[in-house]
Amino acid sequence: MAKEKACKKCRRIFETAKCPFCEVSESVDNFRGKIYVLDPEDSEIADQIGIKEKGLFAVRLR
Ligand SMILES: [Zn+2]
Repeated sequence: MAKEKACKKCRRIFETAKCPFCEVSESVDNFRGKIYVLDPEDSEIADQIGIKEKGLFAVRLR
């Protein structure tokens, strides 16, 4: 099983070599919490952590 990583830039969680969304290879495998954002415009948590797109994100990077 591939290890989950979180993109340093957009905080998306992915298991590939680099972030498939912003193509940044800087990632952290040390993150806390996961949030699946379904409706970023209507999600308080997404708003709090600054996420504006749908997807699986890390709540906090370390
Ligand atoms: Zn990214």
